[in-house]
Amino acid sequence: MRFATFTQGESTERLVGAVSADGSSITRLDIPIEQARKGVLALIDLAGKGEDLSKLSGPSLSMDSVVLAAPIPVPRRNIFCVGRNYHAHAKELSGSVFKANNADPAAWPIVFTKFPECVVGPKDNVVLPGAVSNQIDYEAELAVVIGTGGKNISRDDALKHVFGYTIVNDVTARDVQMRHQQWDLGKSFDTFCPMGPWVVTADELDGTNTRVRCWVNGEPRQDGHTRDFIFDIPALIETCSRGITLLPGDIIATGTPAGVGMGLTPPQYLKAHDVVRIEIDGLGVLENRFI
Ligand code: MG
Repeated sequence: MRFATFTQGESTERLVGAVSADGSSITRLDIPIEQARKGVLALIDLAGKGEDLSKLSGPSLSMDSVVLAAPIPVPRRNIFCVGRNYHAHAKELSGSVFKANNADPAAWPIVFTKFPECVVGPKDNVVLPGAVSNQIDYEAELAVVIGTGGKNISRDDALKHVFGYTIVNDVTARDVQMRHQQWDLGKSFDTFCPMGPWVVTADELDGTNTRVRCWVNGEPRQDGHTRDFIFDIPALIETCSRGITLLPGDIIATGTPAGVGMGLTPPQYLKAHDVVRIEIDGLGVLENRFI
């Protein structure tokens, strides 16, 4: 199923729904409003209590009549993010952000986080931070959404903990990222995590075998495949849950393919009015304007 968070009309009240197979309509799921405010996170919690989500129903609405929000508008805590997870991307940035850590790319994943408050919706604007940084870059990524939590999850069990998948743009201020050793500041500016358009459940999408593409103003920039991960999804779940209890609704952004703006010669950073479009096969499109 494809679960989305949305608003309708002038109301800012968040609702949750199931998107039709052709994407033309959305069934508003009848759950209490205080739960619906949490978006798809509420459905993950209900599933954890044994609720059969396929039994939820409500009125069918035209997709044209709703505004999609990020499926998990305010994550419970920071988003786990993986750096350097496609071989070709590791190579393109081997002289810059991965320099200090590039001796053995297969040893351990690089993991950092983005603040929950930087999440915005699938069509929302991303705000360039003015004088704070003029090296703003895009990163198209498949994001894993955890269903059942757990600690010290083995790679053999890992995929059983996946509720579904969504798309994120891991927007990055390159100069700030490189300045501080730790990447969180340069990755967490307000609006720097567009997410959506919805969560596709793990029974409908094989996240280990899908294509991730990105365009800037219609120009192709990234074209990768999750088969080319250095660390596969089970390895990432195993790593993030080592000594840390993963919670239902936790998000793991799996890294970006080659073709980021910093890797171009000369580098091409984002400027006002640029539109970044990310498409993942079997998932949908995330398209955001930078202002
Ligand atoms: Mg990234």
